[in-house]
Amino acid sequence: MRLGIIGGGVLGLTVGLRRAALGDEVVLFEKGQEPGGLAVSFPVTERGKDGPYLEKFYHHIFKTDKDIVRVIGELGLNDLLEWKTPPTSTLLGGRIYRMDSLFDDVKSPRLKKLTKPLVGSSIDTALAIMNFKPLPFLSRLRFGMVGAYLKFEKNYQRLSKTTAAKWVQKWAGKAAFERVFKPLLSTKFGDKYDQIAMPWLWSRFHERTQYLGYLKGGFHQLYLKLFDAVKEAGGQVWLESDVTAIRKGTGDQEGKVIVTVNGQEEVFDKVVVTAPTRVFTQLAKDELPASYIEKYAGPNSIEHYGAHCVVISVDRKFFDTYWLNVNDKGYPFLAVVEHTNFMPPSDYDGQHLIYMGNYLPMNHPLFGKPDEEVLAEFLPHLKKINPDFDESWVKKSWVWKAGFAQPIVTLDYASKLPPHETPIPNVLLANMAHVYPQDRGQNYSIRLGEKIAKMI
Ligand SMILES: Cc1cc2nc3c(=O)[nH]c(=O)nc-3n(C[C@H](O)[C@H](O)[C@H](O)COP(=O)(O)OP(=O)(O)OC[C@H]3O[C@@H](n4cnc5c(N)ncnc54)[C@H](O)[C@@H]3O)c2cc1C
Repeated sequence: MRLGIIGGGVLGLTVGLRRAALGDEVVLFEKGQEPGGLAVSFPVTERGKDGPYLEKFYHHIFKTDKDIVRVIGELGLNDLLEWKTPPTSTLLGGRIYRMDSLFDDVKSPRLKKLTKPLVGSSIDTALAIMNFKPLPFLSRLRFGMVGAYLKFEKNYQRLSKTTAAKWVQKWAGKAAFERVFKPLLSTKFGDKYDQIAMPWLWSRFHERTQYLGYLKGGFHQLYLKLFDAVKEAGGQVWLESDVTAIRKGTGDQEGKVIVTVNGQEEVFDKVVVTAPTRVFTQLAKDELPASYIEKYAGPNSIEHYGAHCVVISVDRKFFDTYWLNVNDKGYPFLAVVEHTNFMPPSDYDGQHLIYMGNYLPMNHPLFGKPDEEVLAEFLPHLKKINPDFDESWVKKSWVWKAGFAQPIVTLDYASKLPPHETPIPNVLLANMAHVYPQDRGQNYSIRLGEKIAKMI
């Protein structure tokens, strides 16, 4: 079978790897210069392509991400996978509070030794929450109980009829919602925070761990290995290959699928599209029924936000946390992530690397702003977080943008998802939006890729 795959993110690469191994003649098209999609990286040091890479958008994995851990092992990268509990914090009322662990911050050596086995456990997080002073004590208690319930509840369907905003206010109370959950939801979904389906929040509590994993030297290595593995299994990966149309074969090509790429037509027995649904409906607009396009790409279909990230290289440590959710008003970014408080600066020739991230509607003016203007706007706000910060610390900067980075998981989300089988025979659609109720992530794209490979 000649199988065309559109998209060289982790999903397309997984489908390619599994099907090539079964003997299909796989050809994968990726419009970017490198494989990796939203998890793509860039050379971050003066050594350029010979030095370490960093993801354009912050990435880590969780202990519960079993599929990606398995694939990392399969590709021989186990030795690079490191698990740590870097501090996750929240900025509220001008103060930084650690939210993920109480015991990691213990100072007394005796107590530290005693509590070490608990670091990163659910008990540890629950106690960190109980220690979260901006909440009245009763609210902390309710918050802790809600957290425990979500951790142990296995059936998210029980929560599928309500929004996270309503459910949390009912069970954890208004204070916990305003000071903890609303900021968490707003970080991802901006002013749509009150429309998010509860199952999405359930999965954040139920499936995530405090232990975060990262490949020393960057996830770039995973994508290079996947790329090589597809080729070793007999597949082809065409980079810088923008697919511009998909159509049904006619005449003696009846039943086949014709893909236009780089101005040329390629004929396939089957095609898997891993690009966003709205891109698919554009590519195949002449073949799809108007009702399909209206339902899955019209004004009432699933909406996506874009991602915007400023990365700066500074010559010293900025603060003590890895991840900071910015909950105070007046900041032009939603999160500050000091990557080198997770992996050491020595991995990056001594640079300290900081992300300032945003998810925004794809037509937001920030996406059109020149990089220098973005930087001039963002940097003064870092001084509010660390008054010692001086712009002279910044030695290099990059601004990265991506569309279709975060599906907006509203209450009716599941009913808006297109089936994998499309109205075009032999064309399958599977993309990041199909990851539900979990928050999208590399692990779930691998899981979906393996499911699609099996379906084929
Ligand atoms: C800010 C941010 C932070 C994130 N943090 C994490 C994290 O910490 N941990 C984690 O696991 N995940 C994280 N993710 C999510 C993770 O990056 C995605 O879940 C994963 O990369 C999705 O892979 P995919 O292959 O499904 O889709 P994509 O990566 O979107 O791949 C789709 C590919 O299709 C290509 N394509 C589209 N149209 C065409 C065309 N016409 N022709 C050819 N090619 C085309 C695109 O160029 C792209 O490479 C994050 C994402 C963002 C944006």
